[in-house]
Amino acid sequence: MATALAQLRRAVEQLELPENDWNTLSTPRRILEVAVPLRRDDGRVEMYKGYRVQYSTTRGPSKGGVRFHQDIDLDETIALAMLMTWKCALTNLPYGGAKGGVAVDVQTLSLAENERLTRRYTSEILPIIGPERDIPAPDVGTDERNMAWMMDTYSVNAGFSVPGVVTGKPIVLGGSLGRTSATGDGVAIATREALKLRGIDPEGATVAIQGFGKVGYWAAVALEKMGLKVVAVSDVYGGVTGFNSVAEIWDYYRANGTLSGAPGTDSITNQELLWLDVDVLIPAALADAITKATASQIKARIVVEGANAPTTPEGDAIMNSNGIQVVPDILANSGGVIVSYFEWVQDKQNYFWSAQDVRDNLNSILMKAIIEVEEMAAFKKVTWREAAHMLGVSRVAEAHRLRGLYP
Ligand code: GLU
Repeated sequence: MATALAQLRRAVEQLELPENDWNTLSTPRRILEVAVPLRRDDGRVEMYKGYRVQYSTTRGPSKGGVRFHQDIDLDETIALAMLMTWKCALTNLPYGGAKGGVAVDVQTLSLAENERLTRRYTSEILPIIGPERDIPAPDVGTDERNMAWMMDTYSVNAGFSVPGVVTGKPIVLGGSLGRTSATGDGVAIATREALKLRGIDPEGATVAIQGFGKVGYWAAVALEKMGLKVVAVSDVYGGVTGFNSVAEIWDYYRANGTLSGAPGTDSITNQELLWLDVDVLIPAALADAITKATASQIKARIVVEGANAPTTPEGDAIMNSNGIQVVPDILANSGGVIVSYFEWVQDKQNYFWSAQDVRDNLNSILMKAIIEVEEMAAFKKVTWREAAHMLGVSRVAEAHRLRGLYP
């Protein structure tokens, strides 16, 4: 939360917004903390902490993912909900920002336990979610199965099907084509544009990706299609270099549940991956990967933040002074929530788009945001992170000003 607040403070100062705006923008609007009981398969009952934070509803219903991770707490959930607020405003989606989560290690849950936990968490936050109120989506530790259970739990309680209550659903339940790969596709588009602006030909440019999950894997696939060379990938346990193609290493990973030991590859640690001599580094795992301790040895010319908040302020300052171009999280990984928005629109209209329509619309919304950030950074002589925050924060501040204060 300290990092997110510091970024907001800076944006408020750079925009010369009045103190009243700082007061409203720095305060989360609604916080719900719930106890989530889980009956384990062996009959034991355990209690888990769950959260849903609606940071802002100024520009529309709040929007943001649900994270299942043992380290999640209220402070981090608020920070991530704040980031969602600026992300949705930066990309001009008609949403506020939210985030939710349960402090649980999903690896320890059976499928049936995961379902029970998801359904109970959903029923605990039920009074404050809904297609016009707050729309959850997948995040770290959750996927389309969890969204199907959330949609079903909400719908059973409503008495009719409400697909628009969550996004990132399976296609047959009202999901959108292209949503699964959307965050990674957006990361790839942002990478391509950052390379071009730096005068580097994307064809043959080298990339290291930390994280081989929903974001990292799909970014790797899209970047390879664009002609870049993915030279290293990792999961929580470590990474590998020396594989021939993303498909080859993915097949090994799927079959063995680990990257290490893939034929013909060399193992590296997650830290070594950050320090590889590549054109592009993509942190696509958890927060705080790039810190005071790790930033100074980064050799990549461009860092594209696939994860949310992967860089600490100290790490950011070091990269900036070393001339590394950082594409900030709220821009780089916004492809996910952009296609979530398309899914919500399709659910509202009961009219479903082609994959090409999804791709074209994602590209045009993201390209507009990239160009706006680039122009703002050049005009105000600030970093891309500062420019992205200035754009997002100013739009929320303006909407708040126009709505006025009630009563
Ligand atoms: N969890 C994703 C994010 O952090 C997607 C959120 C959404 O689609 O609502 O942007």
